[in-house]
Amino acid sequence: MKLILLGPPGAGKGTQAKILEEKHGCTQLSTGDMLRAAVAAGSEVGLQAKEIMERGDLVPDEIVVGIISDRVDEPDCASGFILDGFPRNVAQAEALDAMLENKGLSLDAVVELGVDDKILVGRIEKRAQETEGGPRADDNVEALKKRLEVYHAQTAPLIGYYGDKGVLKTVDGMADIDDVSNQIAEVLGVG
Ligand code: ADP
Repeated sequence: MKLILLGPPGAGKGTQAKILEEKHGCTQLSTGDMLRAAVAAGSEVGLQAKEIMERGDLVPDEIVVGIISDRVDEPDCASGFILDGFPRNVAQAEALDAMLENKGLSLDAVVELGVDDKILVGRIEKRAQETEGGPRADDNVEALKKRLEVYHAQTAPLIGYYGDKGVLKTVDGMADIDDVSNQIAEVLGVG
């Protein structure tokens, strides 16, 4: 299965990606996790991404497109993958379309997790308190405000982009974790 999970920061994309990974044996590809690993490793990409991520902006498209293109070619993606945090704007979505076509692949669905902003702030504050080893560098009020702004301005238009292509499925991301994963199974027809 090849999926995109779409939704604002704190919507539960990572949580649902992990559940789908276990259920269906497809690999979670989180650009946020990959970029944080690059920052921690001090690689060239990490050095470029660090400050941008800390202030809640998007890292340049060519960086994330390159990372995903390489990652999709790894053997563990042969049985499918779940894109979590990518694409994040229309340019990335267009690059993804071209990339998949080049590789002879196609998406099964784009699942949108719908959550109100008010709930997101509370969820991310809770995550900041509970994260082992301390909060993420961008889980603070300032960066979160920026991430939500960026989501509405740049990522939310993808709802229309994929809606027009007829591949968008929307679930209520405000329900509890099991309920959300049941809704996802239902819209994917794998319940
Ligand atoms: P969240 O969705 O909770 O905000 P992520 O872990 O998905 O967090 O992303 C954290 C940060 O990593 C983003 O704010 C951004 O700076 C960077 N990032 C992740 N994915 C992308 C992407 N596809 N394009 C550009 N920047 C990205």
